[in-house]
Amino acid sequence: METDAVRSNYKILICDKVDDILVSGLTSRKLDVSYEPEISPQELMQRIPEFDVIVVRSRTKVTGDVIEKGRRLKVIARAGVGIDNIDVKAAQKNNIKIVTAAGSSTDSVVELAISLAINLARHIPELCSNAKRGMFNKKTGVELHSKTAGIIGFGRIGFQTAISLRALGMNIIAYDPIQNEERISSVSGRYSTLQELLKVSDLIFVMVTLDSGSKPVLQEKELSMLKHSAIIVNTSRAEAIHGPSLLNYLKLNRSSSYATDVLVNEPPVEEWEKELVSLDNVIVTPHIGAQTVEAQQRIAMLTLERLLETIGVE
Ligand code: NAD
Repeated sequence: METDAVRSNYKILICDKVDDILVSGLTSRKLDVSYEPEISPQELMQRIPEFDVIVVRSRTKVTGDVIEKGRRLKVIARAGVGIDNIDVKAAQKNNIKIVTAAGSSTDSVVELAISLAINLARHIPELCSNAKRGMFNKKTGVELHSKTAGIIGFGRIGFQTAISLRALGMNIIAYDPIQNEERISSVSGRYSTLQELLKVSDLIFVMVTLDSGSKPVLQEKELSMLKHSAIIVNTSRAEAIHGPSLLNYLKLNRSSSYATDVLVNEPPVEEWEKELVSLDNVIVTPHIGAQTVEAQQRIAMLTLERLLETIGVE
């Protein structure tokens, strides 16, 4: 255990809005915490040289420039799962540790993914909006039961989603370079190539991890292999699908549909992103996969635990 004198040397900057459990867990240990949930990229560049630890969610980008300027930086804590907003190579080069709360939002993301799929399958956003305006015309949807779900990225979230989809009567097929036979057989599913998955799946769930240098898993060629009525759900990262190609695909295939919780810029900045979210066959949520009371508490507790362990404070 460290002395109070050493502890007080740790200056921690929390850059995004986090559960109070995390803020109070740090301040109660006499650590010097600055809570700046709306700090801008410019302010971050100015202030980063003062801090030993930076805590972020997905809003703040910990770029190579931020890391180079963070002369005292020892730990980057990601209060969440994906680390594509962190320049991992720059962190490694500067011996900066990265801690995450991997696994703490899985159940919340799974529930969102399934609700997005059902919303698309039954045209719920469109029919709800019509009904509120007094228009009670029906639109025929499709069942999930007996359809094939293709899960790209069969990790924690992919696997838990498969369990729920199986309970809804779906057939499971997965693509992941890392294969776990026990997991896939427990949902009576099978692994396939990406190409086969794209050709045979009625619903596609994009659930991969990305780092800041990853290439999109679905590009123009892959999108051209999809069924004409494919339903695509993306709860991982927008960059997993090549955006302009996806826009073209959805404009040409009006019976296909896309639901996403993630955009390259949130809110959209590029013209193609704005057009994508405006399409009738697209629904979008503002990155709420982990935005539940339960997930936020688990994320805060796990981030606190891992951060304290990393800086050697009990
Ligand atoms: P995980 O590491 O348990 O699983 C990810 C899987 O993707 C791994 O099995 C990996 O092998 C696989 N993968 C990586 N690249 C691939 C590729 N090119 N093709 C196929 N598979 C590939 O991670 P997880 O906990 O399941 O989370 C998955 C992702 O979900 C996270 O990285 C994050 O980006 C995203 N996420 C989003 C939210 C949200 O708010 N929408 C919340 C939590 C996590």
